[in-house]
Amino acid sequence: MKQRKVLFLGPPGAGKGTQAKEVSAQFELAHISTGDMLRAEMGSGSALGQEVKSVVEAGNLVSDELMIAIVKERIAQADCVNGYILDGFPRTVVQAEELGKIASLDMAIEIHVDDEKLVERITQRRSCAQCHAISSAKNVSGDTCPNCGGTLLQREDDKEETVRNRLKVYHEQTQPLIDYYKQRGLLRSVDGDRPINVVRDEIAALLETL
Ligand code: AMP
Repeated sequence: MKQRKVLFLGPPGAGKGTQAKEVSAQFELAHISTGDMLRAEMGSGSALGQEVKSVVEAGNLVSDELMIAIVKERIAQADCVNGYILDGFPRTVVQAEELGKIASLDMAIEIHVDDEKLVERITQRRSCAQCHAISSAKNVSGDTCPNCGGTLLQREDDKEETVRNRLKVYHEQTQPLIDYYKQRGLLRSVDGDRPINVVRDEIAALLETL
């Protein structure tokens, strides 16, 4: 299998995590979601989890230093041998610059969705406490996971007020990365406001070109 090092860029709710899950298995890539890693720390009650909890729950960004340390360690692990998909990192220009010092990326894929659509999507988002599958409250009645029967929960930072702050933080701090990667000839953009399988096929076709 060819090695591919890519990142998914885009606002919260654009489908980065969903698409990374879809294509990482197909291309044998590690799916590195910094948000999932932080939530796992928070769930375990570790010192790190306690340190970041209030920042994450308010929809603000955890420090660049900490995030860079976490990702450095993660991309050195054995399951990254064929490469990886970075989902949710980098989120600032400083993070992108530091990443550039330790890894040479092959592609940055921007998944674009308009803000108004995102607020609706994210506030409807539920994740299963048991199997971690994501579903939409729009398609499920009650709080039972259609995948495994577990209980569906809403992320604390998926509540509307926090979502609006996360979008503001995205536009201020992360959106500049679109130009950053464009200037380096690495940026590709896909329209994320289409069915999951359509977006997946387009992303898979981009990965095939590497
Ligand atoms: P996500 O699941 O990617 O939406 O991330 C959830 C939250 O984790 C974000 O709103 C931030 O508080 C934090 N987070 C995740 N990745 C990063 C990052 N690269 N830099 C700073 N904070 C992050």
